[in-house]
Amino acid sequence: MLPFLDLKSVNSLYRDELIEAAIRVIDSGWYVHGQEVKAFEVEFAAYCGVSHCIGVANGLDALMLILRAWKEMGKLKEGDEVIVPANTYIASILAITENRLKPVLVEPDELTFNLCPKKTADAITPNTKAIIAVHLYGQIAPMTDLMHLADKHGLLVLEDAAQAHGASINGRRAGSWGHAAGFSFYPGKNLGALGDGGAVTTDDSELAETIRALGNYGSHKKYENIYQGVNSRLDEIQAAMLRVKLRYIEEDIKLRRRAVDYYLNYLDNHAIQLPVLDKKEGHVWHLFVIRASNRNDLQDYLREKGIQSLIHYPIPPHKQKAYKLWAGESYPLTEEIHNSVLSLPLSPTIDMNDLSEVVTACNLW
Ligand SMILES: *Cc1c(COP(=O)(O)O)cnc(C)c1O
Repeated sequence: MLPFLDLKSVNSLYRDELIEAAIRVIDSGWYVHGQEVKAFEVEFAAYCGVSHCIGVANGLDALMLILRAWKEMGKLKEGDEVIVPANTYIASILAITENRLKPVLVEPDELTFNLCPKKTADAITPNTKAIIAVHLYGQIAPMTDLMHLADKHGLLVLEDAAQAHGASINGRRAGSWGHAAGFSFYPGKNLGALGDGGAVTTDDSELAETIRALGNYGSHKKYENIYQGVNSRLDEIQAAMLRVKLRYIEEDIKLRRRAVDYYLNYLDNHAIQLPVLDKKEGHVWHLFVIRASNRNDLQDYLREKGIQSLIHYPIPPHKQKAYKLWAGESYPLTEEIHNSVLSLPLSPTIDMNDLSEVVTACNLW
């Protein structure tokens, strides 16, 4: 079976350096909040082009803690509306409802699947206080227009950059556009740890300090608690792994782009719609997502040919059992997307034979 993503092969590229880094941590005798996390935070902030990075336990916590910190800082209060794309991964929505804020779903742009500035503007009410821009599949949302809109209405902007490490517009990277951004280092992400991990990036020093405290039981200073915080830390061992992989992220992105170029050049089946690029040079291709009206049939066909594909995502947030907020409401474009998307195998280590096998199968279907 040609796997959708072979993490063993991806991490084997850096095996020696990962082992060396793991040994360094094991032998240091210091496993939480130490030198590796500190160094990674400095390196990742520099990579994103911001002044602060705060390591946390995972991507959901990064998003959740940013909104929580804005509440502690008096910038948000319970019940405030937060605009979010209707077709996002559930974590973006969970971060909002966990903070007792109100998610307002907006249909995405029909070509890029990212937030559309026009539809976002239409959703703004006097209660709107923030926008979550999700850089879906590795393509950065139209941040210039979204930031203009936010400035005009005095809104906070949170980037959900979990799928977009290194994605950029005119060289300015994800994580540096909004007032804060949340990243995930889940193993399958473009910058993946060997376990869970996440980070917040921001230029706002007060926000950075508040998040540091919130993720550490609400404490800036040992045994003094000014907030009812949580425990959300990036481990030393994961920070050490991430420092190795961050050194190669640009190389990884190049390899992803090379694989995508192959798909874009050779996929040729009128029943398959190829992904649409807004700003090609800035797309980091976390996922290569095609559309087909009889997508389930294509997925079965590929499986018969020994090719694994995945659906990102099969059920939109407004139809999830966890939420009754949107019972009876419909988001036709979002539903259409969820019914037609299919993600083809893609990783920095996928080789030409694999790519050619996928293309041949798709073209024959
Ligand atoms: C993966 C992901 C998250 C959550 O990250 P975790 O580290 O798994 O908690 C949030 N938002 C998006 C868009 C994601 O893809």
